[in-house]
Amino acid sequence: MCIFCKIVNGEIPATKVYEDEKAVVFEDVNPVAPTHLLVIPKAHIASLNDVAAEHAELLGHLQLIAAKMAKEKGLAEDGYRLVMNCGELGGQTVDHLHYHLIGGKLLGWPPFTDIKK
Ligand code: 5GP
Ligand code: ZN
Repeated sequence: MCIFCKIVNGEIPATKVYEDEKAVVFEDVNPVAPTHLLVIPKAHIASLNDVAAEHAELLGHLQLIAAKMAKEKGLAEDGYRLVMNCGELGGQTVDHLHYHLIGGKLLGWPPFTDIKK
């Protein structure tokens, strides 16, 4: 079972800030900004490479939760970033689909640092 599935079922502790039937939001263990939350589906989906039409509602649900959390965390007015990494070159390190909700400071763009490949 993957590390995020273990967080979903409580085998690994995490600071959960939102939960419903289909999704969980928790604090990233290694935050890159004052607010850094991970928005994940409870169902294991490895990456955006593994989604199909049947996941459209779930993906929309995750984005709506992210928007709600951004408001709750006071990020909405100043702005924030919602990002999903996919695959090795995309910087994905945990193979359970997740959105990063990052905010609370000015974020750089473009996002790459040329440290890999
Ligand atoms: P990725 O690199 O796949 O886009 O993002 C994975 C994120 O998960 C990273 O930001 C990393 O800090 C976070 N992460 C990895 N393991 C754990 C964990 O056990 N608990 C929590 N809360 N976050 C984790
Ligand atoms: Zn999983």
